Amino acid sequence: MSITSFHPPVRTLMGPGPSDVHPRILEAMSRPTIGHLDPEFVTMMDQMKALLQYAFQTKNPLTLSVSAPGSAGMEACFVNLLEPGDKAIVCQNGVFGGRMKENVERCGATAIMVEDEWGKPVDLGKVEAAIKANPGIKLVAVVHAETSTGASSDVEAIARMAHDAGALIIVDAVTSLGGSPLKVDEWQIDAIYSGSQKCLSCTPGLSPVSFSERAVEVIKSRKNKVQSWFLDLNLVMAYWGGGVKRTYHHTAPINALYGLHEALVMLQEEGLEKSWQRHRSMHLALRAGLEAMGLSFIVPEAARLPPLNAITIPGGVDDAAVRSTLLNRYNLEIGAGLGALAGKVWRIGLMGASATPKNVLYCLSALEAVLAEQSAPIRRGVATEAAQRLLVADGY
Ligand SMILES: *Cc1c(COP(=O)(O)O)cnc(C)c1O
Repeated sequence: MSITSFHPPVRTLMGPGPSDVHPRILEAMSRPTIGHLDPEFVTMMDQMKALLQYAFQTKNPLTLSVSAPGSAGMEACFVNLLEPGDKAIVCQNGVFGGRMKENVERCGATAIMVEDEWGKPVDLGKVEAAIKANPGIKLVAVVHAETSTGASSDVEAIARMAHDAGALIIVDAVTSLGGSPLKVDEWQIDAIYSGSQKCLSCTPGLSPVSFSERAVEVIKSRKNKVQSWFLDLNLVMAYWGGGVKRTYHHTAPINALYGLHEALVMLQEEGLEKSWQRHRSMHLALRAGLEAMGLSFIVPEAARLPPLNAITIPGGVDDAAVRSTLLNRYNLEIGAGLGALAGKVWRIGLMGASATPKNVLYCLSALEAVLAEQSAPIRRGVATEAAQRLLVADGY
């Protein structure tokens, strides 16, 4: 055997995640590994909780990072809050709502679906009607930022409807945390999960979650044991419980957590509102460039999610060839369409450290060059200038 070390190419990541990881985060992850019950590590984890509470805008004591990717955070919310025989309303307007349905059913609960067209936000009237038609539901589940389409939904309004019906709300904030306005306490969200590799710009593999007091009560008073031992928050709470004695549950991914800690310190340094504004400014600049070229967004303007820009692939263009040329010649990754939108859209991510003027301009010029090569019907020579105008006006 003569396999040597793996050296990945340096890419610019502008897909649906992972996003570019800031060098400060990679440096933090290379610091010495210590024991996960080492008092120094415990101190770092207490800071992590405060940093996550800031990012989520919550005072929830049960705020922590699940030691696995966003999908595990999703599963943690469902397996802890649902029991066999429960009923849940699941809003679906893209890929991730479909995964929520899977989770509900695997808990032995019934999923009542509220479906909307992919690319549209969740229709509040339909949610209201489903709640009225189904008394006794345990919870409502909704994706705040649908990464498969780039649509953002009004989770604050849906939380209010759920609470009026005596139900809880679970929110998927994998792509919104840090990148677009999200206020867990003000919006009264009961259970929320996110991911480290989207707008927090950390490496993949960690899932920040937070649970309200109301949700904690439900978890503590379950009739049945949580079906997953690893994700049972009754056990995890004893580990991350804060301050007092921690008992061994699993070995925390120490160095990955250094990375998340650094990512959250950077978010705090920038300021949450400033980060939201930056994502919005980059989105508007990218949009100006794409529209100047003649490309169009699939999501109606009011529901557009700054971190994820889904655009229609122009007719006659070879989807896969464009993406592979961007990757191979420009080291630039953009996302393909998922599910119902496969082959129809590209998804350009502006998440965390990827949401910069440099990336916006690079993506516009590389995309323009590749589309021109394919004789796509675009206007040339105007995109980067249109984006620059907005960036300069916004002080970048
Ligand atoms: C990426 C993503 C997930 C899944 O996160 P993983 O870290 O890939 O497991 C779930 N929901 C949404 C909206 C996402 O964008």
